[in-house]
Amino acid sequence: MATVETVTGPIDADELGTTLIHEHLLVRDEAVYAQWPDTRTIVPMTQQAVSYDAALDVAIDTARAAIALGVRTIADPSAMFLGRDVELMRKASVETDLQVVPCTGIYTYDHLPWFFLARDADAIAELFVGDIERGIQGTEIKAAFIKCAADEPGVTENIEKIHRAAARASVKTGAPIMAHSRPASETAPRQIEIFEEEGVELSRVQIAHTGDTDDLDYIERVLEKGVYIGMDRFGLELFLPEERRIPTVLALLERGYADRMFLSADSNATLDWYPIEVARQMFEAGMTKDWDIRKVPERVIPALRDGGMTEEQLETMMVDNPKRWLGR
Ligand SMILES: [Zn+2]
Repeated sequence: MATVETVTGPIDADELGTTLIHEHLLVRDEAVYAQWPDTRTIVPMTQQAVSYDAALDVAIDTARAAIALGVRTIADPSAMFLGRDVELMRKASVETDLQVVPCTGIYTYDHLPWFFLARDADAIAELFVGDIERGIQGTEIKAAFIKCAADEPGVTENIEKIHRAAARASVKTGAPIMAHSRPASETAPRQIEIFEEEGVELSRVQIAHTGDTDDLDYIERVLEKGVYIGMDRFGLELFLPEERRIPTVLALLERGYADRMFLSADSNATLDWYPIEVARQMFEAGMTKDWDIRKVPERVIPALRDGGMTEEQLETMMVDNPKRWLGR
């Protein structure tokens, strides 16, 4: 029987239920937080700024909003440099009964601190394996998947090292990989090539943010490798507006890819990337649209149904795919 690690312990993969595969209960720079804990962070859902200390309450409200819409589980890809905090995830999960699936890994587009520059992929993989086999941040909460990222700078030397570390930890433990990608730079083919070179079973790989493009030829080239894809940034209009994301999913359903796609919003309960004035300008300029954890259940699923998605296809994307990708 396949199981999945959550912040409240392992569960049977059948218990995942309706799952949003990419939602963050917290996004912050852990170094800034450690040095300047009085700094404020923003809440996209309410477009307010709050203290870092309020982040737990916002995470709880966010988890509750998901539960109210029939979501049973979220996978939270907050890794290193996104402020991963499994104790906060655990508290939010216990308070609301939302099942939360945590990860290990490093989220960077190129920069690495000296600690990682001076270590090789095997040494970094060992850290990931420790999170998967022993527990995260001194707890017994184990990571269920491995996160890595490639973005505008491409697959640089540092990014390649993190990908190889993720791949080696995956080969050793069987844990799946979620690779943040940037379709505008066509990063996925090189990311997949590295995983292949390292012997990763490609059905364990999810190429996140593939839904940021509506170039079906590119998407099919990625899918042909046997990976999953994340149609996972609904509401982030700055990368691709919803009116182009929906037809892309419908076209891929038509071509028979229900069993390879995830629907999610990449929402952040709190986010410290922008000062509140800048964030408000971004909201007002339409760079986001209803961008929070309610997006997929409340807006995207009804729109896909209107476009002809069947209940069977929905079940495949929201229940079966998470079970197959995360279960081990
Ligand atoms: Zn994300």
